[in-house]
Amino acid sequence: MLGPPGAGKGTQATRLSEVAHVPHVSTGDIFRDNVGRGTELGSLAKTYMDQGALVPDDITIGMVMDRVAQNDTSSGYILDGFPRTKPQAISLDQELSKIGSMIDLAVLVDCPQDELLRRLSGRALEEGRADDSPEVIKERLQVYEIQTSPLVEYYDQQGKLKRLNGKRDVDSVTKDLCDLVGV
Ligand code: AMP
Repeated sequence: MLGPPGAGKGTQATRLSEVAHVPHVSTGDIFRDNVGRGTELGSLAKTYMDQGALVPDDITIGMVMDRVAQNDTSSGYILDGFPRTKPQAISLDQELSKIGSMIDLAVLVDCPQDELLRRLSGRALEEGRADDSPEVIKERLQVYEIQTSPLVEYYDQQGKLKRLNGKRDVDSVTKDLCDLVGV
């Protein structure tokens, strides 16, 4: 699942995971879980997350490859928030090809910037996420534009990209997503 912060990737990935019966692997959730449990990985990740910056690729890639190697992924999995940089995408392709696997589909959940700002500011009030403060939101949107949005072209060139308009009610987006995936 690709898309800017606030587009609804996490919500949609959670729903798809329930319908398709495959695990939802969210790097943001894994990092937040580690922060909550006070692990070494968590304290390292927190220094980046609090600033809206990306956790370094070497840490993130290893973490994802360990996760997708677990038994529950044998029928597939949904990656949410990963890959987020071109080196992450290239490493993912390389690591998966070593085990005879690959990414089938990249779904871009897109949404205009004014709507993203509105949603992220609302989420800051509702969920109290540390990285939903106005300065950090701005930084995260910029990081997306610079580091993550090139992945749209990366997957488009591989013929794997599908686009969804995320500025709609949640159920309509889920319906289109399930249609795309064929579940
Ligand atoms: P998210 O919940 O996906 O918005 O992620 C929250 C934060 O976790 C991001 O702002 C980053 O600091 C970190 N993070 C999540 N996924 C990645 C990733 N693929 N690469 C680097 N940092 C990540």
